[in-house]
Amino acid sequence: MMDSSATPVASLYIHVPFCAQKCSYCAFYSEASSGELVNRYVTALVRELEMVAPDLKPKTIFFGGGTPSLLNLRQWEQILRAMEKLNLLGAGEFTVECNPATVSSDKAKLFRDFGVNRISMGVQSLDEKLLDRLGRVHSREMVFKSFDILRRAGFDNLNLDLMFAIPTQTMDIWRDTLNEVVAMQSEHLSSYEVIYEDDTPLFAQMKAGEFAVDENLACEMYDELVSRAIAAGFHQYEIANFARDGRDGVPPSLKSGSPTRRPSQDQIPSLACKHNVNYWRGGSFYGLGPSATGYVRGVRTKNWSNTQLYCEQLENGKRAIESSEELPPLKRAGETAAFGLRMVAGWPFEEFRHTTNFDLRNEWSSEMKRLAERGWGRISVDHFQLTPQGLRFADSAAEMFLR
Ligand code: SF4
Repeated sequence: MMDSSATPVASLYIHVPFCAQKCSYCAFYSEASSGELVNRYVTALVRELEMVAPDLKPKTIFFGGGTPSLLNLRQWEQILRAMEKLNLLGAGEFTVECNPATVSSDKAKLFRDFGVNRISMGVQSLDEKLLDRLGRVHSREMVFKSFDILRRAGFDNLNLDLMFAIPTQTMDIWRDTLNEVVAMQSEHLSSYEVIYEDDTPLFAQMKAGEFAVDENLACEMYDELVSRAIAAGFHQYEIANFARDGRDGVPPSLKSGSPTRRPSQDQIPSLACKHNVNYWRGGSFYGLGPSATGYVRGVRTKNWSNTQLYCEQLENGKRAIESSEELPPLKRAGETAAFGLRMVAGWPFEEFRHTTNFDLRNEWSSEMKRLAERGWGRISVDHFQLTPQGLRFADSAAEMFLR
């Protein structure tokens, strides 16, 4: 039941569960697309949007996947027109994840016309052999071409997604990719180490001894990423995320009397992904589409990870929720603390108290002290954050906050 007096939820995630083919490392819920099922999904999604729209006023929207850009123009138009009718457009940040193989100028124009203002492009690598190894459908040339199409369509907030520690990737190959990506001058950069998830072909290859995993090299690649991104003018604001800031690079001729304010390490750069920041800071968000998780006023939900079943449920007038759970307040606050520590700025004490009704300084004082003694954390007058060394072990540090 929605509480009609509550402030509407300001964040919306939509999962598009289709991919052209399955990448060798991927454990996300997605399947090869078939025309009929995609149409059925689009209609079901519109129904789900209608159900939650009265409780939504999105400031951030994020279409992730899967491969959202795989939907054709007609399917996109159906979704975006429905959102328009439901008053769900006009978000300050509206992101669509795109695969470089499925970007076209028509799609880019349609996105712009309906207020999409940020694209996140899954590049992963610019080395053809590694793209093959990962089972990606795109080539390096498609990355440059799609980036160009998006710029021409007027997108001025683009994220490029990379991967490192890919089997057989050497430091030289990683440096080449970083150099080429940095030269593209995107506004945002995300980069994750390859994870070997059960039930993926890459995991099976590792188990069969087809390659060795070199953890030291992975650490060196992460260091290279951080130093290269910072040298190129990005601000690191989360373990794996880097963004530019509107306060940087103002030409001297445009500066007024006071000097330009660069964000300090404790501030979040203006081009950070606001949708993810809301997520890490424990904000509410609706999650729609097969397998999507949502978190609304302390209740976590998860949709069915089966597109057929998802469609059936909505066709019968039900939300396609497989499970929902209301966490006890302290447990919820512990998770919120743990998530927020992924961010370089850490947790401002007041903001944490406002979000969770708990005070980090009371509830987690010994954990913060232990982390500070170990050199992994820093306690200031008004906030707690992990140090660069602590950020490398953020998962272990975060675990200490769970209740
Ligand atoms: S494109 Fe993304 S979601 Fe689809 S299979 Fe590859 S990694 Fe998974």
